[in-house]
Amino acid sequence: MARYTGSVCRFCRRETTKLFLKGDRCHTDKCAIERRNYAPGQHGQGRIKVSDYGTQLREKQKMKRTYGLLEGQFRAYFKRADRMKGVTGENLLILLERRLDSIVYRLGFATSRKEARQLVRHNHFKVNGRKVNIPSFLVRPGDVIELREKSREVARVNEALDGVMRRGVPSWLELDRPAFKGSLKSLPVREELTTPAFQEKLIVELYSK
Ligand code: SF4
Repeated sequence: MARYTGSVCRFCRRETTKLFLKGDRCHTDKCAIERRNYAPGQHGQGRIKVSDYGTQLREKQKMKRTYGLLEGQFRAYFKRADRMKGVTGENLLILLERRLDSIVYRLGFATSRKEARQLVRHNHFKVNGRKVNIPSFLVRPGDVIELREKSREVARVNEALDGVMRRGVPSWLELDRPAFKGSLKSLPVREELTTPAFQEKLIVELYSK
């Protein structure tokens, strides 16, 4: 699969907001947004008039990059969200949050979605007692995500868990730190999905053209 290997801080600078793509560094003053909160490149500090299309495109890129997806994958999620009952934009966000790599990140087993994806790919997790190594696996309410026993000594995971114990897990998830387990209590509602802040309506407008 194609993979972007350049600097991800450029993505945050392009959107002039934190997308939290680099783990612990995002919470320090080394964060590029703290230091240079303007778009990268020669004309990054220039004044550019952005069209409606440009605004919609930026919002789509922001969401796509936050969840680490390629264009085709993101569009497939949108189509699925569009076929579901309810508000398409909210469905899209909830679908993305249900991805196993996203849940592993939100539960605090990893400091970024990228790290979470790698942990999942490397067989560190079980869902409802069965090994799952597919980052896009969609977790359902009530599912239990568990770190496999052989992985519980991994220092990086323990450090990440200590960090989330300080910050807290989102309200739609439950973490049992001593048992290295977590679960999706219920699907998140739109008001709970605030970081990063998205205007999903713009993405719906973009794809509806
Ligand atoms: Fe880089 Fe994280 Fe800051 Fe984004 S939030 S600029 S990924 S350090």
